[in-house]
This record gives sequence, C-alpha cells and structure tokens, in this order.
Amino acid sequence: MSRIFNFNAGPAALPQTVLEEVRDDLLDWHGSGMSVMEMSHRAEPYKTIAAEAEADLRSLLAVPDNYKVLFMQGGATGQFAVVPMNLRRDKTSADYVVTGAWGKKAIDEAGKYIAVRTAARPEGDAFNHIPARESWTLDPGAAYVHYTPNETIGGVEFHWTPEVGDVPLVADFSSNFLSRPIDVSKFGLIYAGAQKNAGPAGLTMVIVREDLIGQAQAACPRIFDYQLVADNDSMLNTPPAFSWYVSGRVFKWILAQGGLAAMEALNQRKSDALYTYIDGEAFYSNPVAVTDRSRMNVVFTLADASLDKAFLAGAQDAGFAGLKGHRTVGGMRASLYNATSQAAVTALIDYMKEFVRTHG
Ligand SMILES: *Cc1c(COP(=O)(O)O)cnc(C)c1O
Repeated sequence: MSRIFNFNAGPAALPQTVLEEVRDDLLDWHGSGMSVMEMSHRAEPYKTIAAEAEADLRSLLAVPDNYKVLFMQGGATGQFAVVPMNLRRDKTSADYVVTGAWGKKAIDEAGKYIAVRTAARPEGDAFNHIPARESWTLDPGAAYVHYTPNETIGGVEFHWTPEVGDVPLVADFSSNFLSRPIDVSKFGLIYAGAQKNAGPAGLTMVIVREDLIGQAQAACPRIFDYQLVADNDSMLNTPPAFSWYVSGRVFKWILAQGGLAAMEALNQRKSDALYTYIDGEAFYSNPVAVTDRSRMNVVFTLADASLDKAFLAGAQDAGFAGLKGHRTVGGMRASLYNATSQAAVTALIDYMKEFVRTHG
C-alpha cells in the first residue's frame, strides 16, 4: 500500500491514523458484531458515538452553552437556502459580503428566500482580495450578514472576524472549519460541510445561537428547520451516520494533536513555507493580496501556462494528487488542510524547484 501526498480541495485528505482506526473497527465495532454503517441510529451504541462527537466538537471550538450544534445533510450548498429560510424572521433582507465563487453561489440561492443586498464585493470577477471593512455598506435592519471566511477556489481567507454590530453574523466555514481557533460567540451561525477539513462527505455541521431559531418560514422542509433538528438531537430522520462517526474520530485526532491552536500553528507553518517559496521564485506566482491569502488553499500559476500539463503529469508521477486548479480559474491549487503534513508540503516545494530546474 502506498499513500499519496494528497492536496485535494474536497473531499480531501483525512488523518491516516483515523482511517486505520475506522478500518480496524469496520467489521466489528467494539464487540458489537457489526459495522457502524449497519447500526440503528436510535439505539446504543450509536447514540453514544453521536453524542461524543458533539461533545468533542463543542470542546474543540469552546462552543458556548447558548448555541446548538446540528449534524445535517445537504452540504454547504443546502445551507445557502436553509439559512435564509430559517433566519429571515420578521426582516425583509439580508446582507452578503462576496469575496469569491462560493459567496456568489450563496447569494444566488438565498435570493429565492429573502431579498439580498451585496454589502461588499471587489470590482469585477478577479477575486483576489477582501474589501476593507470601512468600505462595506451594512444595513442595520438586515436579518443577518453572510460571508465566506475562506474562499476555496480563489484562495482568499479572512484572518479577522468582521464586526457587524447587532446583526447576526453568518459564516460559511466549509473550507477552514477547525483549521484555527475562532470565537463562536461573535457569530449568529456557522456552517461547514465535513469533506474539506473534518471528515467524509455527507455531513454538514451547523452551530447556531438559540435565540435565532424557531421562526423558520412555513415552506421550510422539516428536516431543514433548525429548531426541529435541534429538538430531535439531529435525528429527525436518519442522519449521515457513518460520516458523523468518522468526523467524530477526526475531532478526537485534533484534540490529541493539541486542539485548534496546534492546527493553526501547523497550518501557518505549511502555508508560510509554500508562499515564501512561490514569492521567491519568479516562475510561480500567486495573485492574492498578501494579507488575504488562504492558509488552506494555496493557488498559483506557472509563468508559462503551456507547461501546466507537464507540471501536473510530473506531479502525478512524483506521488502528488489534487494540484489542478479549479476548472473555472485554471492554474494550480494546493489544499493544505489539517491532515496534510509538513512533509507533504516540503516534498511539493522540492518538486516545484526541480520543475523550474528542468523547465524554467
Ligand atoms: C466546498 C464548498 C462549498 C460547497 O460545499 P457542498 O458541501 O459541496 O455543498 C460551499 N462553500 C465553500 C466555502 C466550500 O469550500
């Protein structure tokens, strides 16, 4: 067996020890005589597996007691619709800050359920920086302010949490969830698909302040009504049980590594190493404003795009996966989630150096 250096954007690398643990327990989970995939979600031991995952996630993020933690389905894309259906309440509009492709998708979907205002957005479609907070035009009467802390395609990340007054702040944390500590109390709602940094696809986590829920629009499907999901411990219907279980193992792995502060230090070191190399080598470039560069998704282009194919083919031969940039922007992208090691980044930089030597 050989494990490749995995730079996939999502689904993405998982910690090898978690995979080994899941493998060892696959046929017979702790003497139960069955796989976690084959268990009833309504019976022990699954109830304990689920509750432990929630407790560990709460501990990792120091989630305050007045927040619900929900384990849902439908992906972040589902939340683009579910958020306005739940949080419109007696308001008429919501503010959106758009810093990339996912923010654009969020706004397009939300528009079906609430009037949307674009409170900030860089000119044009070259999403390469975050508009300064002073330039945002926020409506104090908005139902919420939505933003995307990490834009997975453009490689643009907020390294600060916006202050938006009393309006609830809503964040699509899909691609930098659990990559660093955050102060949950600054948010009205956080959501994230598991498959970037927390586990396998199929699970969507939502952390929401209690006072914001319980007023979903009548048309909101029951399985997407946060209040009903919370009242039923995220088991209103069959949950994505296996994905929830594996994510729970990832939470324990992060705790064992030293929690989110340790993840942040590691992610800072990895991304610093790669950006420093890119900035020092004229053959490669990154288009994002230095202060807004993502620690999770490092995008870069080659000086001569006709060499992209050779770069990717050589990368594959050298044991790297997932370096092709998103189809809408081209170029390259190295996603450096928690489970991607420092060694993988060092090996990638060595490959990039060798490519310049042979093709530059
Ligand atoms: C991947 C991603 C999405 C889409 O997630 P799905 O779970 O596929 O719906 C949305 N937002 C961000 C920031 C993402 O990285």
